[in-house]
Amino acid sequence: MNNTIRVRFAPSPTGELHLGGARTALFNYLFAKQNDGKFYLRIEDTDEARSREEYVDQICDSLRWLGLNWDGPLLFQSRRKDEYRAAVKKLLSEEKAYRCFCTKEELSEERKSAESKGGFLGYSGKCLQLTKSEIKGKLNSAEPFCVRLKVAKSGKILFEDEVYGSIEVNNKEIDDFIIQRTDGFPTYNFVVVVDDSEMEITHVIRGEDHLTNTSKQIKVYEALERNVPIFAHLPMILGGDGKRLSKRHGAVGVQTYRERGFLSEALVNFLALLGWNPGDEREIFSLEELTQNFSLSRIVKKAAVFDDKKFEWMSGQHVMKTPANELLERIRKLDPEWKKSVIPDYLLAIVEVQQKRLKTLVDLMTQSDYFFDGPNDYDEKTARKRWKDESINALMEDFLDSLRTVEEWSEEQLENRLKKFAEERELGLGKIIHPTRLALTGVPNGPSLFLLMEILGEEICFQRIQTALKKLPLESREVI
Ligand code: GLU
Repeated sequence: MNNTIRVRFAPSPTGELHLGGARTALFNYLFAKQNDGKFYLRIEDTDEARSREEYVDQICDSLRWLGLNWDGPLLFQSRRKDEYRAAVKKLLSEEKAYRCFCTKEELSEERKSAESKGGFLGYSGKCLQLTKSEIKGKLNSAEPFCVRLKVAKSGKILFEDEVYGSIEVNNKEIDDFIIQRTDGFPTYNFVVVVDDSEMEITHVIRGEDHLTNTSKQIKVYEALERNVPIFAHLPMILGGDGKRLSKRHGAVGVQTYRERGFLSEALVNFLALLGWNPGDEREIFSLEELTQNFSLSRIVKKAAVFDDKKFEWMSGQHVMKTPANELLERIRKLDPEWKKSVIPDYLLAIVEVQQKRLKTLVDLMTQSDYFFDGPNDYDEKTARKRWKDESINALMEDFLDSLRTVEEWSEEQLENRLKKFAEERELGLGKIIHPTRLALTGVPNGPSLFLLMEILGEEICFQRIQTALKKLPLESREVI
């Protein structure tokens, strides 16, 4: 074995990639890349009833979208049954494992009687007492059996978790657990070890929900006489209410965030900070910066909270710093039909202004309608507040006249003109900005008004202000 760092992400394809899984994949990826190591993807599909191929595709697709490309081919546990059987056979022949013929009923009797005597410490090891000829007899009469690992009853398992520190488990807390079920399928704690050791995995980085499995897995490593990897368990992710993040909290699938138009960079950045502390005040990181800065030693034990508001903010930061043409390309990927017939330069200009204030690609698409079409109606609350009576019509008529003499229809000149116009009338700028914005867009918020006017062009601006003069204020229209 050489010194290359080798890690893996090992999802079970029983559902789409959720945020917790994506965070595990990300941390493995970062650790591998940072150390010039290898990042493998292993599909844990031994649960044939629940595993689905479409989930494998979805998981891979989500990982690629996040930019977490893996090394080498995918590994499927379902294709490795022979290897698992061989490993079980080896342990049986070395008498490190044994066949257990106890029926369900016998096992539940055993549990009940142990509980009544003060505590159940797991399987009693009854079938260890079977003689060779008894075993032969049972095999000949095709009695079903599972295979259990023989676990020493004294001593301790000690291991150093990179996040949780020293962990000590008494051997007597671990019973002779099953490594191959009655139906012939090996169990999770067994196959994980066979795979991790054959893949020469150096670091197992996974969710803290697996921490309790680790002592059992170490027992399997010892029995198979394989090197025990270094373990790093990642803290839980909680929803805003302090409970473990789950569907109850809304979207937990990576694809949903993708469909909602979040940038993958934003999700990667946010996931990285769920449990990893950069050690300073920085919050915005690209995947590359994360790769440079990440370290296992800065993973915290404390559960991390997925705060939607914070994520939206972070998403806005990434939208802001992505070049507009790149954003446009991403929009095209999300919805190839979006404003297909509009000239790209115009779209680019729109994206450039909107990216300063919007947080997702979907926001960019849905909150930019006024760049293409005049407002068909006006936000009622805004109209009643900003264009409350006919006096605004008189004011806006004048402003329209004043706009007609602007020499160059540019952001700068438009701003100057509006300021001068307001000054002459001793009005606050808002008195003109708000009704103008309402006339042009129908909504209360948007990008800088002057830039908006420049992009729309003078003809459209004149038309829209004229239309508003006819339709506003709302009260008078209703009275008629
Ligand atoms: N297949 C397990 C899961 O999806 C991961 C096991 C591991 O990483 O060891 O939770």
